This record gives sequence, structure tokens and C-alpha cells, in this order.
Amino acid sequence: MSISTFNNTKNKSDSIWIDLKNNPKNYRAVTGDRPTGPLHIGHYFGTLKNRVFLQNLNIENYIVIADYQVLTDRNSNQETLNYIKEIILDYLAAGLDPINKKTVIFTHSSVPELNQLLLPFLSLVKMSELERNPTVKDEIKAANLNAINAAMMVYPVHQAADILFCNGNLVPVGRDQLPHLELSRKIAKRFNERYGTIFFEPNALLSEFPVILGLDGKQKMSKSRKNAISLNLTSDETANLIRKAKTDNECVITYDPCGRPEIANLLHLLTMCTGESSEKIADRIGDRGSWYLKTNLIDGLNSYLEPFRKKRIELSKDTGFLFKILENGNEKARCLASETLKRVREKMKMLYLEHGNK
Ligand code: ATP
Ligand code: MG
Repeated sequence: MSISTFNNTKNKSDSIWIDLKNNPKNYRAVTGDRPTGPLHIGHYFGTLKNRVFLQNLNIENYIVIADYQVLTDRNSNQETLNYIKEIILDYLAAGLDPINKKTVIFTHSSVPELNQLLLPFLSLVKMSELERNPTVKDEIKAANLNAINAAMMVYPVHQAADILFCNGNLVPVGRDQLPHLELSRKIAKRFNERYGTIFFEPNALLSEFPVILGLDGKQKMSKSRKNAISLNLTSDETANLIRKAKTDNECVITYDPCGRPEIANLLHLLTMCTGESSEKIADRIGDRGSWYLKTNLIDGLNSYLEPFRKKRIELSKDTGFLFKILENGNEKARCLASETLKRVREKMKMLYLEHGNK
């Protein structure tokens, strides 16, 4: 994604942040996660915190656990169920409330009508658009795949179905998702132009720091890249990982996101925990160096996560209720997806029998 496209997306996101509080009724949010591992602090600061914020503005909030998408870079679903449970615990501990609020949590494999949207959507996309998607290219490289399956190439289109099935218009995501969201916008626009208007063109809602780097300081933090700090770790485990985070050879801490991305990433994380600006933290720490910065971050992050951890431990004592949450969510998502699919087939003139042609 070019810098100018990113800047446009960021500006749009900034204006939505201002509008949200005045006009929450104009928005329906939708996002999701792959059940490939427990969520990490990149998820928390990149999207989860924003989902909770939207929910608390009483905005409808659809959250898809993208279980088919596990198979884009793995051959087995063996651990998926366990990760689904872990992820729902993370959601609840972070403050998502599918019982009392307008948050719907569902697995996309349980919603056949959503998956059927993939077929007409595929016909709206060019092969070249799929082949040049930078996030897909990164994921193929990171997974070190011998052979690339077709699900990997078309999952951004599937993701459009995950967003458009509920006609969501706001997607709180990290930077990695922007190429996919751009494709969802194109699919919505092309469908509307070709068959008649149904869909909104969804917008991204970005955080202050739209990508959290992993402990390697190079790639984005991700469940699959073994560079993450999971939210379910203890404070000691978190401290040990932060101590190992890659930094550079300079002794003095300065804030230079382009020149010193590893240090900037640690500063960003501390900013998100305490609210103090990254520049100020860097000035304050100065020649006390990266060890002292890490000590500050360990303290800041552990106290920030303390309520989350307490709640998660409490919730995980009895996980039977997680299935009820999913059952309700799947049912609600299915209702909405059926309506959308019907409208789509109607516009495409594919409701043959329903139109009295028997
Ligand atoms: P995987 O490695 O299995 O793909 P992941 O860590 O990339 O897992 P996803 O489930 O693909 O996580 O992403 C879910 C959501 O979290 C997306 O909206 C994505 O933008 C956001 N997200 C993931 N990692 C980060 C990160 N490092 N910084 C900001 N946002 C992130
Ligand atoms: Mg990912």
C-alpha cells in the first residue's frame, strides 16, 4: 500500500474517530481473528481495545472467528477448537460483552450463507489483484510454504464476505488488513455498480499506532511468527519476553520510528499503557538506555494488564458458557447472512423459483 493511500485511510479513520461519539447510530462494526493461537498485545492495542470502545458506544459489533482461514497456511484444524475458546476468553476479559451488549461473536464456518457470498464476490475480482496483495505475499513468506493453496490466494475475498454479510461499514483493524479492506471496498462498489446498490464501502478504524512490531523488532507481531507477547501470559513470563526484545547498539534512547524501529516500538507500547508521549519517555530515559526502557515497559504493561489477567483467570474456571455465546452468535449471524444472501441473489436475478417461475 502506497504512503499516500495509507495517509488517506488514516485521515478518514481520524475523522471517523471524531464523528463516532456524535453519531454512533450511523455505524456497524465488524472485525475478526484467525483462531491460530491466543491473542497478543498487538491485537489488544491494534483492534481489541477499539472494539470494546465501539461496543460501549452501543454500536453493533460483529466479531468473526475466521476458522476456515486457519487452513490458508496450515493443513490441520486440530487445535482450532482450543484456540477458539482461548480467543473468546480474551474477548471477554478485554470487556467485550455478548450477553448484555450488542456484540455478536461467531465462527464463519457456522454461517453457510456468509460463505456462499464468496462465489459472486470472486467474479468481481481480478487474478492480478489477488496476486499483488502485499499482506498475502508477507504471510506466504512468513509461513515458508512449499506449496501455496488457493484458499491463501482468495482469503481476502472471503474476508469481504465476512464484512459485507452484515453490511458493516466500520472495521477496527491493524495496518496489515488495509489491503484486504481496500479489496472489500472494491467488491462492494463493483457489486453495487453491476447489480444495484446493497453494500456500504467499509472504512478502517485505526489505532494511534496501527502496527505493533514483534519481539524481533522487524516483522509485525503475529501469532504465527513466534514473536508475540500473548495476553494470557503471567507477569513474569511477560517480563522475560520483554527483556529478550531486540533493540539496537546505541546507548541513548531517542524516538526515531524510521531509523530505530525496535526502540520506537517499545516506546509506543509504553505510550499505549501510560498515555505519556513516546518523545517524552525517550527524553526522560535518555542515557539510561534500553535496559531501563524495558524495565519501565515491564512495569507499565504488567500494571495495565492486571485487571485483564484477573478477569481472564476468573472466567477460565468454568468455560461451559463459551459454547452458549457461540451458539447465540452463530444464530444471529446466520439470520443476517440469510437476508443479505437473499438480497444479493435478488439483485443478481438468481431467485428463479422464488419469483414464481415454477
Ligand atoms: P496469524 O499470524 O495467525 O495470522 P495474527 O497475529 O496476524 O495471526 P490475525 O488473527 O491475523 O492475527 O489478526 C486479527 C486482527 O488483529 C486484525 O485486525 C489485525 O489487523 C490485528 N492485528 C494482528 N496483529 C497485529 C499487530 N501486530 N499490530 C496491530 N494489529 C494487529
Ligand atoms: Mg494474521
